[in-house]
Amino acid sequence: MVPTSATLIGNATERQTIATVCQTCTTGLFSRDSFSKAWSSRSLYDGFSYHTTWEQICASSSQGCSWCSLLLASKDDTMVREDLPQITVGISPSRNKGATPYGVQVLKLMFNNIPNSTFYIYTIANNPASDYIIARDILLKVSSPTTCNLAFECMNECILHHKHCPKPQHGDLPTRVIDCSDPKGPTLVITGGLKDLYVALSYVWGESQPNCTTTQNLSSYLKKINADLLPQTTKDAITTTCAYGLRYLWEILSVFYRTRAQTRIARSRRCAGSSEMHTSLS
Ligand SMILES: [Zn+2]
Ligand SMILES: [Zn+2]
Repeated sequence: MVPTSATLIGNATERQTIATVCQTCTTGLFSRDSFSKAWSSRSLYDGFSYHTTWEQICASSSQGCSWCSLLLASKDDTMVREDLPQITVGISPSRNKGATPYGVQVLKLMFNNIPNSTFYIYTIANNPASDYIIARDILLKVSSPTTCNLAFECMNECILHHKHCPKPQHGDLPTRVIDCSDPKGPTLVITGGLKDLYVALSYVWGESQPNCTTTQNLSSYLKKINADLLPQTTKDAITTTCAYGLRYLWEILSVFYRTRAQTRIARSRRCAGSSEMHTSLS
């Protein structure tokens, strides 16, 4: 079923839709038939086409038409003001294989049959248009439970349904890992052949790591690591590991401090991609 423009704009009534675009756009692109043609486009150069003038677009934009404002913002210097541009609008699934989530739609905009811009389309979950539009608003608060749940869902989707992705398997843990069962009171664990999954934190190690494991602090770390002394990156990784329902985290703190060069070698060997590593945070 092809949605109406009213649905996609997210307003409950056609009357409200009119308020967001000018009269020309309401009876043109955003009329049922025209919008259906744009929505149903499949090829790159396909869609609903119409002619207008830049004067008309400018006037409507200044009166608050959001679509005409988008056209104006997409106009480049090569389009002279006197042009009678042909606007072509198409909406179709993204051809970019790297786009997430899979199937995300893009709005394609062409001026005079020349591709001009593409825009990813997204909406909030409780918008009526969410039945048709796959992608959701970008989450800007990275430490919120919502963001963590989304990451968890994506990870499970990969593990359960991606045929070609390698699956994590229980295997020997690295020599030392952090037990994240209690994010406020993590402990260092000498694994001694323990088999389980773990999360690996991958990040650039700065010049000084005052809280790396040494012979002096090893015994106290085995009882409890003072989370207040940890860098924020490590604290976040501990919280995330726990939120994912996993227990063990491998990161630089777990490595015995020798020299920086030796530690880097140890880290790169361990991080070379083992199947027992469940997730890599970076
Ligand atoms: Zn308009
Ligand atoms: Zn996958």
